[in-house]
Amino acid sequence: MPDHAKTLSPLQGDARLGYRCPVCGSDSWETRSLWLVPLLARMEATEKEALEGSRREGTYCRRCGSNIRSAAVAWALQRSFMWPDLDRRWFNLTSFVRVYRRLRVLEVNEAFVLRSHLKRMRHTMADYPDVDMTAMPYADESFDVVVHSDVLEHVPDPEQGLRECARVLRPGGRMIFSVPVVFDDMTRSRQDLQPVYHGPTGTEYLVSHDHGANLWIKLMAAGFSEVRIFALEWPAGLAFSATR
Ligand SMILES: [Zn+2]
Repeated sequence: MPDHAKTLSPLQGDARLGYRCPVCGSDSWETRSLWLVPLLARMEATEKEALEGSRREGTYCRRCGSNIRSAAVAWALQRSFMWPDLDRRWFNLTSFVRVYRRLRVLEVNEAFVLRSHLKRMRHTMADYPDVDMTAMPYADESFDVVVHSDVLEHVPDPEQGLRECARVLRPGGRMIFSVPVVFDDMTRSRQDLQPVYHGPTGTEYLVSHDHGANLWIKLMAAGFSEVRIFALEWPAGLAFSATR
């Protein structure tokens, strides 16, 4: 284990975030583990990046089980479709899916605890390996929303994956997603680097790219016309919204 991972204390227990869960509305959070630290160390991450990644993945809502990463996706989804001064104290994904139940949602691989909520809308699942994000079996302009959470870093050809998401969205439709981003660096392929895997034990997937500060350019080049970054909290709780 690298030195910086050994120096981190295993933070566990209550976490005070100062905001309510945008999935269920609870304000009770806990930190369960720092399992990501050694993994990020293998990706040559700095201690700061490792701590951010660990907070993003390992801090959970006690009521619904959402971690900060998926909570950020839920927040970006609501902010993208609701009025801009949305007050996070009074709204959450549970109420959002009731109001927006007619939205046609494509979920590209399971977005963690969000799936049970997204299924209350007009929901289609595109799970790997049955559906390949770079060649999806859906008609052009057939969805209002595409959601994916920490999928893009595993796609061997992420540009093609993004073009496919743009293709299946109607004009004005939105792709809401999270992906690990190191904003101090540019996106790079990991093809010739030490292999890194993410995912639940037993179903870990190879990371094909480390995404960086030029991610927005790839979104524009794939056919999106607007890119917004939502910070549920900075920097651990970021999610993106790209409008077709
Ligand atoms: Zn919650």
